[in-house]
Amino acid sequence: MTAAGGPAMPSLGTVRRLQALAVVGWPTARLSRETGLSPGRLDRLLAAAVAVVSASEARAVAAAFTRLGGASPGLCGVSHIAARAARNRAGTAGWAPPAAWDDDTIDDPAAIPQWTGHCGTTRGADIHDRDGLPRCPPCQAALDRHRPQQRHHARRA
Ligand SMILES: [Zn+2]
Repeated sequence: MTAAGGPAMPSLGTVRRLQALAVVGWPTARLSRETGLSPGRLDRLLAAAVAVVSASEARAVAAAFTRLGGASPGLCGVSHIAARAARNRAGTAGWAPPAAWDDDTIDDPAAIPQWTGHCGTTRGADIHDRDGLPRCPPCQAALDRHRPQQRHHARRA
């Protein structure tokens, strides 16, 4: 069985690109127009509820990511309310922005989003704290590994 639009591939990079576009404020309705994917399909991808995508879906989303990742939704006709709703959804879910990803690694399952430039290390955790950014899971894990005494202290307090 062959999916329409070419052979299937893992959805991970496509999901990361769509989530990052939501962080910028691109709503599903507009992403549907930009990619040709249905809003329902995009919602399932955003929720990471789809394991595989067709090659043409991946290409369409990658092209939209390149085009829109650094653009302003407000300057491209997206209403303030729609952009804010997209950003709120992304913020609640903890999705990573385009700048946290590298084109060379966004499709790599082992890659983690770089919120700080040092994510996955205690230095990254320090930068999260300094900038008031919630710690990402890899930074929290690094902290837990390297500073067990603080955890004990926190438990006693
Ligand atoms: Zn981090």
